[in-house]
Parts: sequence; C-alpha cells; structure tokens
Amino acid sequence: MKVYLNGKLVPQSKACVSVFDHGLLYGDGVFEGIRTYNRRVFMLDEHVARLYRSARAIALDIPISQAAMSAAVVMTCNANRTWDGYVRVVVTRGVGTLGLNPYVCKKPQIIIIAGRIQLYPHELYEKGMSIITAGTVRNHPEAVNPCIKSLNYLNNILAKIEAINAGVMEAIMLNHNGHVAEATGDNVFAIQGDRLMTPPPSAGLLEGITRDVVITLAGQRGMTVMERDMTRYDLYTADEVFLTGTAAEIVPVVRIDRRVIGTGKPGRKTLELSTAFKEFARQQGTPLRGCT
Ligand code: PMP
Repeated sequence: MKVYLNGKLVPQSKACVSVFDHGLLYGDGVFEGIRTYNRRVFMLDEHVARLYRSARAIALDIPISQAAMSAAVVMTCNANRTWDGYVRVVVTRGVGTLGLNPYVCKKPQIIIIAGRIQLYPHELYEKGMSIITAGTVRNHPEAVNPCIKSLNYLNNILAKIEAINAGVMEAIMLNHNGHVAEATGDNVFAIQGDRLMTPPPSAGLLEGITRDVVITLAGQRGMTVMERDMTRYDLYTADEVFLTGTAAEIVPVVRIDRRVIGTGKPGRKTLELSTAFKEFARQQGTPLRGCT
C-alpha cells in the first residue's frame, strides 16, 4: 500500500509520524472517512469541505487548498487501485513540545490512507442490529462540538465500550438534555408511518454526509422528513430505526435496550432507502482512473 504523506506517496512502512505530534499526544487534529464506489469517490467535495470546517473550528490551518486535497485523495486512490474502498484523510496539528500549546506546532501532517473497511458482518444488514442507549453523554456542543470530526473520539469510544460490554456493537448517545444525539460513529433515524425523523444538528451531532443523502433520497420518495428533538420514547415506539454512516452505510436496527423495534425485522422503508442509497452511490462521485 502507498500512503500519502505531506505531498508524497510513500510505502506503508515509511509512512511514519513523530511521537511528538500533537495528533498523538493530545488527539489534536481532524479527519474524514470517505468511500469509493465503482471507481468514483463518493461525495468528495462534501467530505473535503467538512474537513476544512473541522480544521477551522480548532484553528488548524491546513497548508494546501481544498482543491489540492481533493486531487491528493484521487491520486492516492488511483495509486492503490481503491475502486471500491474506504479512504481515511487525517490532518494532525504536527510536531510540537510536550505542552498543549498548538501554536508551537508549525507543520500540520497530512495523511491519506486508501484501503478497505468492513464495520459490521454482512448478515447484520439482513437481520438487523441490536444496540443499546449508552450512559455516556455526548459531548456538550460548548465543550467539544460534535460537529468537529476531531482525532479525539474518546467520548464515542466510552459509549462503544458500553455497547460491547453489553454484548452489542453500537450505542446511541443522548445529549446533556436527554435527547437522542447519534450513535458512536453513525447518525440515527426513526420511521413512524410515513414520517422520517432524525435529530437536528442542535442536538449535538456530526452532520453526517450519509445523513444528508438519506434525507434527500427520502424526500424524493415522498416521505415527510423531520429534523426534530427525539427521546428514547421516539425510538422505542418507532416502526423502524436505522443508522447511517460512510463506513456503515444504512444499518437496520431491530432491538434497542433489548426492546424489539417494530416487527423485530429490518423494515420495508429502511430496505427501500438502502437500495436507493446503493444505486445513488454507484452513479455519483468524482471519477477515478478507468471510470466510465
Ligand atoms: N456521527 C459520528 C460520530 C461519526 O463519526 C460519523 C462518521 N463515521 C457519522 C456520524 C456519520 O457521518 P458520515 O455519514 O459523514 O460518515
């Protein structure tokens, strides 16, 4: 594998960062996870724009333009023949001292890894997933705003630990008001009748790019889409619940806190949206080498 590191493609074994990088020492940096489908990079501009927003929010100046970043993603995918894969873009604060001060870090490190990802086993998409609601509260937006896709995922990891310890793979996190925010690495949706509900950004969540695509696709299919504050009641009483994310795509949820959701099987509307999403993803995106 060839990894992009600060403008160059280097062999995986040479792709190293310093132990003094504040990305490592403090989780000081930002990242994106991007998919390629069918020789195209899916929603590349949107991911790059969110990366730069995250960076701006932590006062990190990425030393190349958004256009150059997009070109670097395409180059790295082509070099690794990542036609149906997963790309991780990471920008760290760079090398500094053992103190917190980010301003002593003069050179942010830009890393692009083009590989593969399979978050969940295939059968989970057919049978649906059991999840819990976590006790760990999602970060308060005035502390570390969940809109920032930062290298510090401990808030989410603590909830993930709760999930795994409870024998499931995902957890829904509530915000400081007790409202549903999101899952540890995915957004959450509920369907009641013809209405599709998802928490608003003000609930404190990462505004998922998959979430946006699903909202658009649902609207095109005549569903009423509502961004509104949700509680566990809305999840427990929903006909269908599903999670969305770049790596996970659309995952049906059939149990929450051991309660059966809807029929206990992946719902019809969830599966319809999932099919529509797959179709859309195969057709859209920035072309890679050999894309027809
Ligand atoms: N929430 C969190 C906390 C995430 O890390 C992610 C990305 N894995 C998402 C939601 C989904 O965002 P996207 O659809 O842009 O991948």
